[in-house]
Amino acid sequence: MNDNYSETLGWDLGIPAQESASDIFILIFCMGKPVYGPHAAWSQTRIAWSDLDDDALFVARKGTAAWYAVSIHSDDLPSGWQTLELRTLAASDSDLYALASRAVQLLRWRDHHRFCGACGGETTGSPSEHVRHCHDCGHTFYPKILPCVIVLVTKGDELLLARSHRHKQTDQFSLIAGFVEVGETLEQAVHREVLEEVGIQVTFPQYQGSQTWPFPGQLMVGFVAEYAGGAICIQEDELVEAGWYAVDQLPKVPNKLSIAGWLIRRFVTSLGKDPEALITGW
Ligand SMILES: [Zn+2]
Repeated sequence: MNDNYSETLGWDLGIPAQESASDIFILIFCMGKPVYGPHAAWSQTRIAWSDLDDDALFVARKGTAAWYAVSIHSDDLPSGWQTLELRTLAASDSDLYALASRAVQLLRWRDHHRFCGACGGETTGSPSEHVRHCHDCGHTFYPKILPCVIVLVTKGDELLLARSHRHKQTDQFSLIAGFVEVGETLEQAVHREVLEEVGIQVTFPQYQGSQTWPFPGQLMVGFVAEYAGGAICIQEDELVEAGWYAVDQLPKVPNKLSIAGWLIRRFVTSLGKDPEALITGW
């Protein structure tokens, strides 16, 4: 089975000196979506160093090629250009998805930190790293990642699946997930989220893998935990329903490119069954 979550990212993330990158590619975004023109595939729009806008943000490099991101207003989108959904990119090309995911999060961070949150002064970037400095009060602002736990809870050969209000129309079920609270460990977040959302206790949370999730900027940290007690009682403002499912009676679940889909398929495989034969999710 695909083990994407332990693979090395194929990009170098250190900001290059100008003379070390000979091929510059520009990644254009509009309202958080990758856009591309009629003459080049997304990520393949080449420009000269001299044409690189001061506002362009370094994203990644590979060898002597470097990718920079810019954001344009929807009024400035040339006719014939199209936007892509990030999720579509995830389904078609995981390498480009990683590039786009990083780019869109960096652009959002920069746009949200043009002014200092402490004193309101204007901030400026750095040529050597992704940081914004406030020269009025000295605060610095680095890109933020929001840690979230996502947990596959097992009870013998069954797993816990829940359907949220967000997926009410699509009938898609998924795993319990939630943001890590300030002052909490990942494991504590697993116990708390499961108890809050479905009213049961779990034990033995074990880290499985992680995934960047740019909607808007989470790091999804995947766990498996075992059922330890309690009856399912859903948090009604979050969930529509939740229940225990045998792997040969699964409802629609996330695709294998999301960590939820990956954890579910791996659990099916661990029981000696074929996930592709049992799972009908997209
Ligand atoms: Zn300040």
